[in-house]
Amino acid sequence: MREDICSIPINDVFLPKDGCPFCRMRDMLEDRMAVYITGAAMMEPDIRIETNRLGFCQEHFNQILAKGHKLSVALMLESLLKQVQEEIFPEDGKPNPKKIAAAVHAREHSCFVCDNLEKNTQHLMGSFLALWRKDPDFRKLYREQDHICLTHYGAVMEAAQKLPKKEFAEFYTVTTRLAKQYLETVTGDVSHFCQMFDYRSVGGDWGNSVDAVERAITWLTTRQPITDQDSGEKNR
Ligand SMILES: [Zn+2]
Ligand SMILES: [Zn+2]
Repeated sequence: MREDICSIPINDVFLPKDGCPFCRMRDMLEDRMAVYITGAAMMEPDIRIETNRLGFCQEHFNQILAKGHKLSVALMLESLLKQVQEEIFPEDGKPNPKKIAAAVHAREHSCFVCDNLEKNTQHLMGSFLALWRKDPDFRKLYREQDHICLTHYGAVMEAAQKLPKKEFAEFYTVTTRLAKQYLETVTGDVSHFCQMFDYRSVGGDWGNSVDAVERAITWLTTRQPITDQDSGEKNR
């Protein structure tokens, strides 16, 4: 992966103060990768070797399909499918169910974008902490974030282990407030949503609970739920 694809201006990511800033950072990386994979990378054999080896998870297949020309995706799939055939259905040797299951399992759990995201996120977390340590304005900007989602609370805590003890105490207080306060708010909103279905609430005020379910799922998973799937029968 070319380095410039993944160089993200940390300060800019934190400016909007809307949602989780690390989700925004991830979105920015994903966006650039999807454009790159179906664009410039089509001419780079090294990248094709890696995309054939790792494939993509469903989330990232969706993203590259949304960003790139369908022909680019088809060309990538052509060599990817051939490699899958060689791995899962080898021409020689006795059938080995354990090996087949392991090969399929490995495929299901590997993704070129996820792999690169993880590597680059670790690097970006380091840059983020360095900026937090040296820049008082950025510390203020960080304090003023709307919230931090569950996944990124964990990721930030993992990175923060490297901070000196005294700085960690301040960082921990601010970060934990951003994650925990939002959890408390969203929990209250979900309860309010549930209460609104009680007959005693008829005509009551929904307050901030209308999108509480979506916000709770987004906080737990880092992704907004897709609710337009037609699953046929539904428990309403
Ligand atoms: Zn997040
Ligand atoms: Zn993925």
